[in-house]
Amino acid sequence: MKPIIYDLNLKELTDLITESGKSAYHAKQIWQMIYRQSAEDPSEFSNLSEDLRQKLSDRFCFKPLSVEKDLKSADGQTNKFLFRLQDDRKIETVLIRYTSLRFPTINSNDTMTESVLKLERERNTVCISTQVGCPMNCAFCATGQMGFIRSLSAGEIVAQVVFVSRLLKSKGLKLGNIVVMGMGEPFYNYDAVMKAVDILCDPKGMGFSERKITISTVGIVPRIEQFTAEKHQVNLAVSLHAPSNAVRDQIIPANKKYPLESLLEACRNYTEKTERRILFEYTLIHGLNDDYENADLLCRRLKGMPCQVNLIPLNDTKKYEGSGADQDRLQSFKSVLDKNGIPCTVRLKRGIDIDAGCGQLAAEQSS
Ligand code: SF4
Repeated sequence: MKPIIYDLNLKELTDLITESGKSAYHAKQIWQMIYRQSAEDPSEFSNLSEDLRQKLSDRFCFKPLSVEKDLKSADGQTNKFLFRLQDDRKIETVLIRYTSLRFPTINSNDTMTESVLKLERERNTVCISTQVGCPMNCAFCATGQMGFIRSLSAGEIVAQVVFVSRLLKSKGLKLGNIVVMGMGEPFYNYDAVMKAVDILCDPKGMGFSERKITISTVGIVPRIEQFTAEKHQVNLAVSLHAPSNAVRDQIIPANKKYPLESLLEACRNYTEKTERRILFEYTLIHGLNDDYENADLLCRRLKGMPCQVNLIPLNDTKKYEGSGADQDRLQSFKSVLDKNGIPCTVRLKRGIDIDAGCGQLAAEQSS
């Protein structure tokens, strides 16, 4: 297998190019062709010599992802890609389009159509994977149910964003946000994930804003501490899912190693040291963690912490018997948080008709 071009940061690419007798300027040109012009392979590097293009083609893989499946949800708002990697392993990447309402100032010159158009604003978010399968084995997660196969390289992570970005660009659209919430535990592949972030945010290339990236972890305390110490601008999300060890142990095996007390201490420390808010994800499972007691305990646990809670009705998976909280319980749970002043949103279920829940499609393909 050839090394993936996206595995290199600009310095590594520059070192390689200068070692081969070319100038650093050539490296910058290649970098910009890939990350600014969205060129797919050296045949599109028209500003480089034929000789250098050939050398790049011989040496590097420029297409580490082949589209195995491209599914679109019935509402047209979600695309799920099943990618085949160079070693035939499969991962998922999801593109989600949110159309949010704006409140325009309508002046007398506006036609009705113009006013209506101004009400809609598209936000394009890509949800990317960091591992093939996942070692964390969370009970309700299709990826966890697959087991762990391997971690992705930085280049395989970057390539997912490049693919979606190029697709959007071909339609005159732009990628707005990256969420690292797909298959895998990002903090169990920390170095590759953070290298990918650096590559994507390099101002000479794609120049993505760190603040538009969210990394979600199930709660690997030493890596949260490292992430805090490194003072990244990337948003941090923690999959909490329960306010007590007794309940969390049942659904997140990692809780036995990193119990709630140490996890929440690391989270509190993160918010204090970085002065940033933290996002807690809470999957509501009927009869397990969706009653008043759990909501009340959650409020007490999070009291005073600058945070937001994202409530997610459970996505059904084949190997987990639990079911999602119904609307009544979801709203009751939310109202307890509202009363206690904990900012809280309900995540919409998107793309259920195309198995857009993390790992569902890849798990189906590997079973
Ligand atoms: S929820 Fe996240 S951490 Fe847990 S098994 Fe699934 S992918 Fe891994």
